[in-house]
Amino acid sequence: MSTAAHTEPQKYLDPALTFQLLDRVPQPEGVITATYVWIGGSGQDLRSKSRTLHGKPASAADLPEWNYDGSSTGQAPGHNSEVILKPQAIFKDPFRLGENILVMCDTYDPQGNPIPTNTRAPANVVFEKTKDEKSWFGIEQEYTIFSVDKHPFGWPKGGFPGPQGPYYCGVGADRCFGRDITDAFYRYALYAGIKVSGDNAEVMPGQWEFQVGPCEGISAGDHMWMARYILLRLSELYRVVISFDPKPIEGDWNGAGCHTNVSTEAMRNEGGIKVIEAAMQKLAAKHAEHIEVYGQGNERRLTGKHETAHIGQFRYGVADRGASIRIPSQTAKDGKGYFEDRRPASNMDPYVVTAKIIDTICL
Ligand code: ADP
Ligand code: MN
Ligand code: MN
Ligand code: MN
Repeated sequence: MSTAAHTEPQKYLDPALTFQLLDRVPQPEGVITATYVWIGGSGQDLRSKSRTLHGKPASAADLPEWNYDGSSTGQAPGHNSEVILKPQAIFKDPFRLGENILVMCDTYDPQGNPIPTNTRAPANVVFEKTKDEKSWFGIEQEYTIFSVDKHPFGWPKGGFPGPQGPYYCGVGADRCFGRDITDAFYRYALYAGIKVSGDNAEVMPGQWEFQVGPCEGISAGDHMWMARYILLRLSELYRVVISFDPKPIEGDWNGAGCHTNVSTEAMRNEGGIKVIEAAMQKLAAKHAEHIEVYGQGNERRLTGKHETAHIGQFRYGVADRGASIRIPSQTAKDGKGYFEDRRPASNMDPYVVTAKIIDTICL
């Protein structure tokens, strides 16, 4: 063994061994594990912890509330540190299998008020008020893989790969980096019950996308946050870092967005294009307000280059990937369908973005 191996502190165990050990000893009958997942103090990180339950819950309302130490997640002062977890959506656990579950939760102070990072609660108010609109969302999550030493995955040491061109939807070892993780993610997320609708390699090498949807109302946020959770858990096994930074590499490299495709029932019905056009006017009037909540660091991404519209301007157009909002040509052709808000950054909060759009166009 090289001496370098001894100077590095041990950081990883062997996931293959773990799976072997778990295969040998079955989980006892009558108990399940529920992993409670919630948004952490940055508003972008996820936290989770597990508990044993006796019997399988029929719904999220059936699950017990729980709590955690908010002073350790930047979410509560030390002298009053308890944050209450309320279960909101259940998914199957693709890591522990069997009847085990993942539970998307939101967070409250002991008096029962949503804490500031609980963006689900106010979003849910918007969706309750607009239930009859039957709003659907399809969210395209772009992300970038880095090795643990913060080097873009698949990039040569101390230099740059060839310019963008061969990588988008690319195939082959010289242009496609990290497909293993997106393949594993796709299966794991589908198993969990997340409505993954597709995936593709992105324009910048080492960058990927998956799409979730269409999901109705508040469930779009639940599905997207849990999808991110599964991706992050897989990144532990693959020993890579997943970045949701909107512009992970400065220069002539595409940024990472979270295009949000939207329709209401009226937009999907005959004559829906008129409803979409009315929505464009409302969105144009509130461009700055939307940009405000569409993700941190988005000004580094929305430059007007690399398939984006400049952050300071609102523009929509049919089939226009340089617009703020694109109306797919199929929608224009059919006279009904959906629109794509291309402004949200990779690190956006899907509860905030989906609710903001519906608030603007329906309330
Ligand atoms: P792009 O061409 O921009 O890369 P994608 O295929 O990546 O588009 O993503 C499109 C997303 O739009 C998918 O998640 C899909 O489920 C979603 N979608 C399709 N129809 C609708 C609709 N009527 N309302 C909302 N979302 C929709
Ligand atoms: Mn896409
Ligand atoms: Mn994309
Ligand atoms: Mn898109």
